[in-house]
Amino acid sequence: MIEDDEGFKYPQIDTSLCIKCGLCEKVCPYLNLNDIRNPRIVYAAQNIDYNKKYNSSSGGVFVSLAESILNKGGVVFGAAFNSNLVVEHFCVESIDNLHLIMGSKYVQSDINTTYIKCRNFLEKNRLVLFSGTSCQIMGLNLFLNKKYDNLLTVDIICHGVPSPGVWRKYINFELRKIGFTPKQTFIKFRDKNTGWEKFSFSIYDKTKNNSLPIKTSIFYKNIYMNGFLSNIILRPSCYNCPAKNGKSKSDITLADFWGIKNCHSEFYDNLGVSLVLVHSEKGHSFIDKSNIELIKVDFEEAIKYNPSYMKSVNEPNKREMFFSLYKKDIPVEVILKKILHVSLIRRVINKFKRLTHHARK
Ligand SMILES: Cc1cc2nc3c(=O)[nH]c(=O)nc-3n(C[C@H](O)[C@H](O)[C@H](O)COP(=O)(O)OP(=O)(O)OC[C@H]3O[C@@H](n4cnc5c(N)ncnc54)[C@H](O)[C@@H]3O)c2cc1C
Repeated sequence: MIEDDEGFKYPQIDTSLCIKCGLCEKVCPYLNLNDIRNPRIVYAAQNIDYNKKYNSSSGGVFVSLAESILNKGGVVFGAAFNSNLVVEHFCVESIDNLHLIMGSKYVQSDINTTYIKCRNFLEKNRLVLFSGTSCQIMGLNLFLNKKYDNLLTVDIICHGVPSPGVWRKYINFELRKIGFTPKQTFIKFRDKNTGWEKFSFSIYDKTKNNSLPIKTSIFYKNIYMNGFLSNIILRPSCYNCPAKNGKSKSDITLADFWGIKNCHSEFYDNLGVSLVLVHSEKGHSFIDKSNIELIKVDFEEAIKYNPSYMKSVNEPNKREMFFSLYKKDIPVEVILKKILHVSLIRRVINKFKRLTHHARK
């Protein structure tokens, strides 16, 4: 896997070694599209434990599912930071390490050799939970090419994954400014010190347990989060995702229940509420036994506030501008500031035009 000039990894094939077996085409999500599946049942949910919910991005459903698997002697795969703050998939075999794969990391996670490790555990009859983005779960299912009763797959609603190269340059810039190295710090993309909806991006000192962050800012004031949420730094395939609408064939899909205040205000909690879409009988039995509070909700109502379940985001015009400057080695914080600043001025001009247009009427 080789990083391209946008900072994303792609497979590079050594044609002199290729035996033309065609296996890569048989497992390619773009060449093996699945049908749309509507979920069997949909819930709004939240973990009943304060700390677990606080340390999760949404309502803390993932941690509860993971605990059930680990308590049964199983293993759990999810996205973690390595010591260089690179996001990669990782296998956890004990509750003590579960915190490593909790929480959203808004960077494309490197799958590495985890599909092979997962298959080895499955063949040894270990219970496995594999979690990731919908395309990662679709890829895993195609790779395994076999149904395993001992596998539970959990994907997340995802509007796209940012470039690992952009993340590396951004975080190194931030850490240089405060005089820390990646090894000395940990990151929370969804710090709830400012609540669930107005979460913060925070950098913490690893050596100081339970301390205040070294640096924290509400998400809309953080330049990287702005780049992510304006869809400028996403992988090209995210604008045409083949795994949406239940096509990943996961057992359970998790997300933030952004519209909870509008449809079930009695279940709202400022520490987070999850949207849980259950696709299979197996998924249902794990959700049923989890340590979470649930209410049944209407599917159409729930996804009204989360269109990324069904639709890919549009590619913004500014994406091309961003990456043409990135390829010239201009610092990412400089490019983002320039691009997002222009768009802010444009928004103000548009708003002004709208107002004067209404005034003229
Ligand atoms: C890139 C990205 C985009 C997202 N976009 C949306 C969205 O548009 N709308 C929405 O409602 N929710 C989105 N989410 C999902 C949301 O942020 C929560 O992850 C989800 O609701 C689960 O929350 P939780 O509280 O149950 O568990 P948490 O403990 O917060 O989440 C842990 C789970 O997230 C997985 N995960 C974390 N980072 C990554 C990563 N980089 N790649 C693959 N898997 C990862 C872990 O493997 C684990 O399964 C996105 C998540 C990511 C990573």
